[in-house]
Amino acid sequence: MGKSKQLKTTEPLAAGIILGAFLLCMALSAFGYGRAQAAAQRAARQAVGAAAQVADSSRLFAGYTQLEDPLLVLVNNWVPLPEGWEVTPRMVDDELVDLRMYEDYTAMCRAAAQEDVWFWVASGYRSVEEQRGVLGRAIGEGEQAGLTAEAARQEALRTIARPGYSEHHTGLAIDLNDVSSGFEDTPAYAWLQRRGADYGFIQRYQGDKSHITGIDNESWHYRYVGKKHAKEMRRLDMCLEEYVVYLQKQGVR
Ligand SMILES: [Zn+2]
Repeated sequence: MGKSKQLKTTEPLAAGIILGAFLLCMALSAFGYGRAQAAAQRAARQAVGAAAQVADSSRLFAGYTQLEDPLLVLVNNWVPLPEGWEVTPRMVDDELVDLRMYEDYTAMCRAAAQEDVWFWVASGYRSVEEQRGVLGRAIGEGEQAGLTAEAARQEALRTIARPGYSEHHTGLAIDLNDVSSGFEDTPAYAWLQRRGADYGFIQRYQGDKSHITGIDNESWHYRYVGKKHAKEMRRLDMCLEEYVVYLQKQGVR
C-alpha cells in the first residue's frame, strides 16, 4: 500500500495508518466482491432474459406472414422457407447464389480487392434435400461417437438448422472464406463491418442479437437484403427479426 516509510515516524500514526489501510483493503475487497456479484447477477439476468426472448421469438414468429419484398424473406428456427420460393442460380466460386445478389456481390468483391481484401463464397445456396443430408451425416457421426439417436440429433441441431429452416435455402445467404470464428480477426471481416451494408450485405447472426435470432455469433454468414434495407438496418442496429417486425409495425406489407 506504499505506507511502510511512515511506520518509522510515530507509532500511533503508524497504527492508525495500518488500521486505515486494513479497513480500506476490507472495503475495497467487499466492493470488489459486491461488483463481481453484481456482474454475475447481471449475467444471470441476461441469460434468463436471453432465454425468455428466444421464447418470445418463437411466439412472435409462429405463423409469421412474410413481407412482400422477397429480399426481406425471413427464414429462421421458427419460420420455414416459404412454399414456392424460387432461386435463380448463378455460380460464384463453385457455389450457387441467387441472381438477386449476384451483381452487388461481385461489385463488393471488386471494391474490396482494390483495398487488397479478398472474399470467397464457401457455401451459398443449399437445397432442403442437401440440408437433410448435412444433418443426417452429423447425426450419424454423433451416433458413431456413442450417443443415442435422440442425443445425437439434439447435438447436431445445436449448430445445424432443420431441413427447410436454413437461410441458405433462399440463395440469399453466403458463408465466406474459411467459415470459422477466426474470420472475425481478419481484414475481410473488418471491411465487411464497414462497407458490407453499402453493397446490401449484413452479418446475419451477431453475438449481441443471439437472444433474438436464436443463433450464436457467426462472423462468416452474410445475408443479402439489398442496399436500402442493409443501410437502414445498420443505422438502426437491428437484426433481420427486429427489422421485419419494425417494418410491419409501420404498416409495411
Ligand atoms: Zn451460413
